[in-house]
Parts: sequence; C-alpha cells; structure tokens
Amino acid sequence: MNESQFELDVLAVFSHPDDAELSVSGTLLRMKSLGYRTGVLDMTRGEMGTRGTPEMRAEESIAASRIMNLDLRLNLGQPDGHIWLTEEARTAVVRVLRSHKPKVLLTTHWDDPHPDHAHTCRIVREAARLATMARYDQQSGRTRRSFTGQNQTSPRRESAILAFSRKSNIACVTLAR
Ligand SMILES: [Zn+2]
Repeated sequence: MNESQFELDVLAVFSHPDDAELSVSGTLLRMKSLGYRTGVLDMTRGEMGTRGTPEMRAEESIAASRIMNLDLRLNLGQPDGHIWLTEEARTAVVRVLRSHKPKVLLTTHWDDPHPDHAHTCRIVREAARLATMARYDQQSGRTRRSFTGQNQTSPRRESAILAFSRKSNIACVTLAR
C-alpha cells in the first residue's frame, strides 16, 4: 500500500483505528474479493483510547489492513475525542477524495451517539459535496466533476453495498464517475 494518487472504488472513512474493522470489514472484504479497490481513511490515531497507545493502534491498523487486503490505508491525524466539522477537517477529506476518487464512501451513521462518529459523518457528507466544487480548495488543483448525492443505487455493485449499509446502520454516499 502507498499513498500515491491511484483511484479507489470504495473508501471507508471512520473516526478511530478499528472502527472500520468493526463496522464494514465484511463489506470491504467482499468488495475486494469481487475485484474492487478498497481503502480506509482513519480520522484519528486513537490516542484517547483507554487501552494501548497510538503506536499500538498503528501497528494493529497495518496488520488489519493486510488481513482485509486493502489497497490503501490513510490517517488524517485529527485529535481523538475532538473531531469537529472544521474547515481544516473538511479540506483534508476533500483532498483525499480528489486524490483517490472513490466511487462509494462508507462512514458512520449521522445519529451515532459518539460525537467523533457523528461529526465524521457530517465531515464526509460535506466533503463529498465540496470535492465537486472547482473553486473549493482550488490550490489543491484537483476536482471531481459530478456528484449524485446520497443513497443512489443505480449500478448493481453499489446496490449491494447499500443493502449492507442499511442493515448495519452505516451511511453510504455514492459518487458519480
Ligand atoms: Zn470509534
């Protein structure tokens, strides 16, 4: 795995290292088995966790990424316990979306009781829209051309993911190609 600008089919964006594993690892494994490129973006390093250290979380993330056969795993290094819908957080996610052009985003439900999780959902929803606006963060030099909105299910593969997401209380945003 590396951070070069290759395109992903599915990107899971969650607050803490292990959230993606606990929430959507089965979906990511299934998508990978069907030949799609999958990635996980962790918003924080999990430094507020009761057990372990950020270094241990990083090692565990590498091991879990191998097991899930991810094409990419990134960490934005936002402050654990203090994820907010800020310009900095939105821009950071927009840049990842523009670099890797995922067609489907998986993230936490907006009504999740953990504030980090709920805020991550809002950041992802807004970043998905902002990434399509040419003049937003223009200095990054990368834009998406279009956006189809939430929970649109035209291609079969995205329908399959949405079927999972409804059952598991996971939000899914589908992006146009
Ligand atoms: Zn979490």
